[in-house]
Amino acid sequence: MALKLLVEQCSITTRHPFVIARGSTNGYTRAWVRLVDSDGQEGWGEADPSSFYGENLETVLAGFERLRPHLPADPFELESAEARWEQVLPRNGAARAALSAALHDLVGKKLGQPLWRLWGLDPRKAPQSSFTIGLDTNEKMRDKVREAQQYPILKIKLGTDRDEEILKTIRSATDKPLRVDANAGWTVERAKQMIPKLREFGVEFLEQPLEPDNLDGLGEVRRVAAAHYLPVVVDESCLVAADIPRLVGRVDGINIKLAKCGSLREALRMIATARAHGMLVMVGCMIETSLGITAAAHFTPLVDAADLDGAALTIDDPFTGATIDGGQIRLPTEPGLGVKRK
Ligand code: MG
Repeated sequence: MALKLLVEQCSITTRHPFVIARGSTNGYTRAWVRLVDSDGQEGWGEADPSSFYGENLETVLAGFERLRPHLPADPFELESAEARWEQVLPRNGAARAALSAALHDLVGKKLGQPLWRLWGLDPRKAPQSSFTIGLDTNEKMRDKVREAQQYPILKIKLGTDRDEEILKTIRSATDKPLRVDANAGWTVERAKQMIPKLREFGVEFLEQPLEPDNLDGLGEVRRVAAAHYLPVVVDESCLVAADIPRLVGRVDGINIKLAKCGSLREALRMIATARAHGMLVMVGCMIETSLGITAAAHFTPLVDAADLDGAALTIDDPFTGATIDGGQIRLPTEPGLGVKRK
């Protein structure tokens, strides 16, 4: 008998309207799933669609219905289940990521082991997570920096026409390490102009300076950035492992998100592929509950940098799981994902 799929919805609210180069909002409805086996054991997973990839709650819900007839009878058939889902629904990584997380959660629970342990990972190797300061007025950004007191690394969203001012404002409020994400908001010229300033303001790395498909432009930006010892990491340019070879020599690293790659196993393949090319690996997230964040947190002992603040930015997270208190990612020790409802 195939596993049973139950779909639920929950809403989450961010403490501040979350503004990046593309828009602003603070209320989110998320779909999450429970895969139930014949023993009544459940695996959980969350879908966190990104409008940038044409996804929303409706496409996720429709995705679950498309995938429903393709659930395995045996939750341990992870590889074949995910391969089938990718065939049925090559886009809509968010829905597949939810089912992938749920399947891994169920397997871990059946074996009585946390997922990181099934993967042979050392949870003490999980890196610190950055905490994002969204675009806002200078005064509000200073307030946000103060509120983020417990987090040792800050991530700043750029890609506006007042980027220098934003950097100056943040830097005047803190001496913490900064990472910046232009969210595809710059031209090559603008990036070249900004790079020396980023170094001047103590930025550790630059994420997604250009639009995703401008690979030659990325190579050009990287050459300039390298002269300033500033690594360039891509997010929107890299969805799955197969995107990595064409990025070799053009960027220094990739940002993995489950909502993009659609599967925990694909995330591991991305890490292996990036490592084979000597690239940095970071893991990021959307605005998510702790259910979604925890799925990604389990493979963080394998990555260099993490930006898993999605649940920490909310005020009504319905789940508990991995935490980033004080900036340090801490993995649950309970079986599977180790996520519970509050
Ligand atoms: Mg990004």
